[in-house]
Amino acid sequence: MIKRFIVLIILLLTVYPVSESQVRDTIRIPDIPGYKTLKYDPHIHTVFSDGRVWPTVRVDEAWREGLDVISITDHIEYRPFSDDVVSDHNRAFEVARPSADNMNILLIHGTEITRAMPPGHFNAVFLNDANPIDTPEWRDAIKAARSQNAFIFWNHPGWSRQQPDTTLWWEEHTWLLENDMLHGIEVVNGRSYSPEAHQWCLDKNLTMIASSDIHGPIGMDYDLSMGERRPMTLVFARERNNESVREALFEGRTAVYFDNKLAGREEYLRELFMHSLEIKSVARSSNSYSVTLFNPTDIPLVLTRAQGNDPVFKFFRTTTVPANGYRNIRIYIENAMDYDQIELKLRIDNFLVAPGKGLPVTMEFAP
Ligand SMILES: [Zn+2]
Ligand SMILES: [Zn+2]
Repeated sequence: MIKRFIVLIILLLTVYPVSESQVRDTIRIPDIPGYKTLKYDPHIHTVFSDGRVWPTVRVDEAWREGLDVISITDHIEYRPFSDDVVSDHNRAFEVARPSADNMNILLIHGTEITRAMPPGHFNAVFLNDANPIDTPEWRDAIKAARSQNAFIFWNHPGWSRQQPDTTLWWEEHTWLLENDMLHGIEVVNGRSYSPEAHQWCLDKNLTMIASSDIHGPIGMDYDLSMGERRPMTLVFARERNNESVREALFEGRTAVYFDNKLAGREEYLRELFMHSLEIKSVARSSNSYSVTLFNPTDIPLVLTRAQGNDPVFKFFRTTTVPANGYRNIRIYIENAMDYDQIELKLRIDNFLVAPGKGLPVTMEFAP
């Protein structure tokens, strides 16, 4: 009895001082064949630059919201609290790491290289040591990151403070691309989606990234109680570990999730769609097909009639299968009994395979 009591005391003294139970949301987005769909926010600030929270809070927030992976990416060049926190660019990562390990959040070491346009701001992730990046010339800073085998992406190319009228691609970006120092672009930063960045990723074979770029507590920017979510990068990784995330990023195996939408390469959005919509029932009467659809994910599915449908099928222009919900659709057909199955050509308007272009799909229904 006494022995058990002593063990209990030791346990109480060594346990990390968090509350006894914590709640975590689940983000319902399906895996795709061969890959797990990991949820990654690769752009986050703390008091080690101009953020307003301590690094461990970023781990708590990520865990609470159901994320798998984060990078704390404090500015190298802008540290307004440098009188109060040490000027070691690795410190935020080191402070957060024990919490991340405890809570099974994958933490990838990163930083934000923060320069005037051109070339603008860049995140480097998968660093070993962020301190050599603190160097005057921007080319040297990016080279210092790349020499550590970092994955480098261009942040918020359409940020109005750096590109007030037009989102331009500069010759500096061509230089970075040609020298293997630019691997991705933020298609989404916070609440802004950049169609230019989306198109550049498609044209130049760059990885699509979405991030929160959060500075204050996450709940100040996103109303989590109303189901709002920060934007995040969906990483299609072989395993749930850092090495698989690195491999997926370098191979462009991502999609971006923001504001109840996805943007990404068609092959990945098609797989996500195919694992997101279930046909629950198909009934046929003399003049119609009645189909019940179910969406087991957190992303609503906006179905819009596309070109090329059989003109005898009369059905909706657009309808939404709600997140975690059902939708019954009716297709009116004179002499429906003559059709043993029907085929509808649709577009999923909130699955963007290019700027302004929804995913084209063909769905077949048979009673
Ligand atoms: Zn920035
Ligand atoms: Zn930032």
